Amino acid sequence: MNAVLENNTLTLLQTAFPDLSEANIRALSRAAYGRTCLPGEDICLEGERGTALYVIDSGEVDIIVNADDNQEIIIDSIGPGSYFGEMAFLGDTTRMATIRARQECRLLEIDQDDFMAVASGNPDLLRRLMRQIIGHIQRTDRAVIHELNVKNEALKEAYADLEEQEQLRTKFIVTLSHELRTPLTSIRGYLALMNQGSIQGDSLPVAMNSITRNVEKMVGLTNDLLFLYEMHPKAPEFTYLNLADVLIEALQGARKALEDEVTAVSLDIAPDVPPIYGDQQGLVLAIRAFIENAFKYSPDHTPVHIRAYSAGDEVAVAVIDQGIGIPAEVQERIFEPFFRVEREGTAHLFPGLGVGLTIAKFMADRNNGRITVDSTPNKGSTFILYLPQP
Ligand code: ADP
Repeated sequence: MNAVLENNTLTLLQTAFPDLSEANIRALSRAAYGRTCLPGEDICLEGERGTALYVIDSGEVDIIVNADDNQEIIIDSIGPGSYFGEMAFLGDTTRMATIRARQECRLLEIDQDDFMAVASGNPDLLRRLMRQIIGHIQRTDRAVIHELNVKNEALKEAYADLEEQEQLRTKFIVTLSHELRTPLTSIRGYLALMNQGSIQGDSLPVAMNSITRNVEKMVGLTNDLLFLYEMHPKAPEFTYLNLADVLIEALQGARKALEDEVTAVSLDIAPDVPPIYGDQQGLVLAIRAFIENAFKYSPDHTPVHIRAYSAGDEVAVAVIDQGIGIPAEVQERIFEPFFRVEREGTAHLFPGLGVGLTIAKFMADRNNGRITVDSTPNKGSTFILYLPQP
């Protein structure tokens, strides 16, 4: 070895094995040979017997393990000053990982036999090197255990999420069956009576009316669901809209869907509200969901207020009720698909699938708007849809 190369070797070994004395480093350097590897070359192969330790002088290598399904997983990449293949020095072992050059690499290779020849007369070198290598293995182990713990936590969270989704799905199926069964039972009852000939004359239009309403209810439910799954059944048409038209259509839709003619509604549109640029169908659906909820979750039929006004560079549509309100801790979640607030112990059963607000949020986003909620249990809720002024 020429002097420059030898100096390089000594510096590199010193970097890789800082615990060794200068004399030890010199001894070790006598067993080291330079070697160049090409990009993609496998320097060690997992499962093969290894007889050499390598120190990286330049370039980087990947440490790769094979998963059960024969997939390669890169667990780390190391570069100059790092070493690998150290297990070969601890006895007759096979390689635990494949080491592959990421680019052209210069390495120092120290073969077990050459090392032993140098180390046999130098027990201090042997002891110190082993101590350092074992320390390195222990640190790597700790790092792997830490990594495993982190992954374990992430897995636990993913399981909890899955379990919650599963619960939501089950609850949703139960709710959906209920929601469909009520109108179906009514239709079936009327049809049975008609088949028997028990409904005639004046009763017929009453029965037909009820059947139609129930069919419409089911169509409404399935439309909501389809809508949710397809999210945008047809491309939205953006036009300039008169907000009053949107609000009236939404209010009529909500009244019809809930058959609520009782709850008093005030509609207050500030005169300075400009026309808005948006998609009518989407905005009607969003505001209708607010109004339906305001009716539904005000079981005492306390009045509902709908207000539209300019708010800075936005237009606000507020739906205000004095109903049962929403506990603070679930207010963020009510926009999630199928999420419904548990109302144990209440005298009321509130129908619904838990998708109205999901659709409202989707529509708000589609119109570059946003929604805020302000709600206090037993006092009431205010949902506001903010839309950009054109
Ligand atoms: P649904 O009303 O069909 O359950 P939504 O997505 O419209 O579904 O609403 C989700 C949940 O948010 C409801 O189950 C209800 O608990 C709560 N919520 C929404 N609006 C109101 C409101 N105005 N007052 C009280 N609770 C409400």
